[in-house]
Amino acid sequence: MSKTNHLPKVGFVSLGCPKATVDSEHILTRLRAEGYLISGSFQDADLVVVNTCGFINSAVEESLDAIGEALAKNGKVIVTGCLGAKGDVVKQAHPKVLAVTGPHATDEVMAAVHQHLPKPHDPYMDLVPAQGIRLTPKHYAYVKISEGCNHRCTFCIIPSLRGDLVSRPVGDVMQEAQNLVNAGVKELLVISQDTSAYGVDVKYRTGFWGGKPLKSRMTELAAAMGELGAWVRLHYVYPYPHVDEVIPLMAQGKILPYLDIPFQHANQRILKLMKRPASSENVLARIKQWREICPDLTLRSTFIVGFPGETEEEFEELLDFLEQAQLDRVGAFAYSPVDGAAANALPDHVPPEVQQERLARLMLLQEEISEQRLKRKIGKTMKVLVDEVDEDGAIARSFSDAPEIDGVVYIENGQQLKAGDFVEVKITDSDEHDLWAEIV
Ligand code: SF4
Repeated sequence: MSKTNHLPKVGFVSLGCPKATVDSEHILTRLRAEGYLISGSFQDADLVVVNTCGFINSAVEESLDAIGEALAKNGKVIVTGCLGAKGDVVKQAHPKVLAVTGPHATDEVMAAVHQHLPKPHDPYMDLVPAQGIRLTPKHYAYVKISEGCNHRCTFCIIPSLRGDLVSRPVGDVMQEAQNLVNAGVKELLVISQDTSAYGVDVKYRTGFWGGKPLKSRMTELAAAMGELGAWVRLHYVYPYPHVDEVIPLMAQGKILPYLDIPFQHANQRILKLMKRPASSENVLARIKQWREICPDLTLRSTFIVGFPGETEEEFEELLDFLEQAQLDRVGAFAYSPVDGAAANALPDHVPPEVQQERLARLMLLQEEISEQRLKRKIGKTMKVLVDEVDEDGAIARSFSDAPEIDGVVYIENGQQLKAGDFVEVKITDSDEHDLWAEIV
């Protein structure tokens, strides 16, 4: 029998958002560092780790199903992630699980793995690349800069699952980003629950990077990351006033001119009920100013439709806002009462059929806006990053497109390209989501 047959094997299921993916990568990296093998099948593994999502009720169901499947096919299961923070739910549904931890708990997961599947004596440290094990394709990677959130938006239970903001040391974040770029990563996607709050918990402490002082603060971190030679894209930027500071970095080409900034609504009263900041006039004035400084800026935002108590007039105010704001990308959701969210106790819940009707109206309006904004790109030349190639051509993304959530650029004569290539293309066509282009 070969030596690898003696190595313990761990199966892994990773559910949930990009933040959960990053947790999975940390656990997988530690497992490989300690010499465990990772198995693609439940039957073949000695034990299975399920990283769960608990955000909305359908995610809870999916997570419980995944745990059930792992128990049926393997029997030894450790649960981690957001649903794990609601420990009772998991234990009640599946009393046979070996251990349950919350999110962001690599040490606890490793302790549970050690207890039920002892670590091999000969760790293959050299098998682990410095950038860790990643679940995203080789040319882009998520970099998580903090965990938790100090806000208490009434529709959200993330702070109760993940706790208050804890920022990673700025030197560690930069080292991870540098390792990723050294390993061939072309695009760094900065994520957290609240990217613009980075460093608040440590009073923007000054750390060190490359022998120089560097403040733990979004603007300084973004500027430093922009020096690494990769695309840098900012996600989950809460609309604080200091977000204005990163726009000049975008205009100078240091980081991508792309801002993922959830506004959630436009009406003052609803925003107040959501415990969200800002007046819409203020937001519109800021957007105008951002576009004056950085005309290429792509704005992505998310909105909740049919929040408890939302009247027809308040909803129409949101539509007016969208018309004026001319955002590039919008994600919208009908309010869904997540167990444990404070907003559930608000009066006058909007009936589901009215929610759906408002959602459809909003999406229709936004589709027209997105379509018009994409149409303006026809004839322009831009640099894109190739994600995949097949016999029909290449599928790439421009600075306006984050992986998985935005559109793509189809390059019909791109058969000879490879994933991870940067290429200059001329835009030839568009619809409400995507662009078509040819290599110039
Ligand atoms: S800022 Fe985001 S993570 Fe924090 S409470 Fe609000 S919605 Fe939840």
